[in-house]
Amino acid sequence: MTGLLESLGIPRIINAYGTNTRLSGGLLAEEVLAAMAEAARGTVEMPSLQAAASRVIAEATGAEAGIVTSGASAALLLGAAACMARLDPGAMNQLPDAAGLPNEFVTVRSQRNMYDRAIRVAGGRIIEVGIPDRISGPGVRDAAPWEIAEAIGPRTAAVFWLAGPDSLPPLPAVAKVAHARGVPVLVDAAAQLPPRENLRRFLAEGADLVCFSGGKAIGGPQASGILAGRRDLVSSALLQMLDLDLPEEQFAPPREFAPLAQLRGLPHHGIGRSCKAGKEEVVGLLVALRRFVAEDPADRTARWTARLRAVMDAAGTVPGIALTLAPDGAKPGLPLLLLRFADAAAAARAEARLRAHSPAIHLDASRLRQGVLAVNPIALADADAALVGRALAGCGDDPPGG
Ligand SMILES: *Cc1c(COP(=O)(O)O)cnc(C)c1O
Repeated sequence: MTGLLESLGIPRIINAYGTNTRLSGGLLAEEVLAAMAEAARGTVEMPSLQAAASRVIAEATGAEAGIVTSGASAALLLGAAACMARLDPGAMNQLPDAAGLPNEFVTVRSQRNMYDRAIRVAGGRIIEVGIPDRISGPGVRDAAPWEIAEAIGPRTAAVFWLAGPDSLPPLPAVAKVAHARGVPVLVDAAAQLPPRENLRRFLAEGADLVCFSGGKAIGGPQASGILAGRRDLVSSALLQMLDLDLPEEQFAPPREFAPLAQLRGLPHHGIGRSCKAGKEEVVGLLVALRRFVAEDPADRTARWTARLRAVMDAAGTVPGIALTLAPDGAKPGLPLLLLRFADAAAAARAEARLRAHSPAIHLDASRLRQGVLAVNPIALADADAALVGRALAGCGDDPPGG
């Protein structure tokens, strides 16, 4: 692999930051790689591939149905399109022009984020509610369920909820008011794994559709994601992603997507044509998902912890940096090695020095303002752990301005 990257003039990096897309995500297990290679050696009809995906995703999440997309962002786009068009082929043909369709996504203002653009790409409009003064500082409150309820009207397509440890109001309360007014709840849970229970949790708490990244902790291909939930909505999403360039009478929906048998006609390629996952990604994601579900979480945490200990052992005692292992530093069950510096400037100097290393070493810099860097084990190769440790040792006793 290094040979291939070199021959293409692509510098290798060491990713101790996380599964970040800009750093090309993580590493695939041999079993996942082998599955992708095997998938690439055969040809299939895409609906039967997505039917198999639906069965595996349903088993892992408890959903009625599921599909593999090109990422969580793509899943969000397709989920939004499904909430707007439902099972109406005319509406599918019309998107992203949402004239005459319910296209409002009621969203708690404190949950706005750069990924919700996917909803707007599909033709949705975000309707913000609540005053998040617990976040801005002067107060303790966020949006209340009644505010969400009052924002729901005839133009509402769905309530959008961003999953996170601090998301308010809690999902069950949000789902209760949405369902009382007859609208679905679309949840972005892209990065909410581990813990493994979260695969089922949001659907169990009332989400109608949930999106996960395939390329984060699940360990699937970088360009894969999951949309799972209600059978009618997932079926709509699938139809808006599939290649539909075939005679209408030849389209036969698999039983996993049975609601599509009731359509009054077949739409053209939909808004989600740009969200397609290839057979290699679909199969790779399914194998990765099964592995993620099957592995004992304690074993997974132990693997990650051992990698961080190898970094610590190679670093030894580093003057000017306090190293501590935080067992749940990144997520429950995903440890971090925290590196505490004298101040933010010292941390920034070390971070720059590590990026200038050959190969470049990227650490989690999200706590830089607190003078803390972190080694995240999730995308780090075992073979690189000692190298990271030795490079850290070279960052000790940083002279001011050095
Ligand atoms: C990572 C992330 C996404 C995008 O996931 P992809 O699989 O890269 O498309 C969307 N939403 C949130 C909250 C994320 O953290």
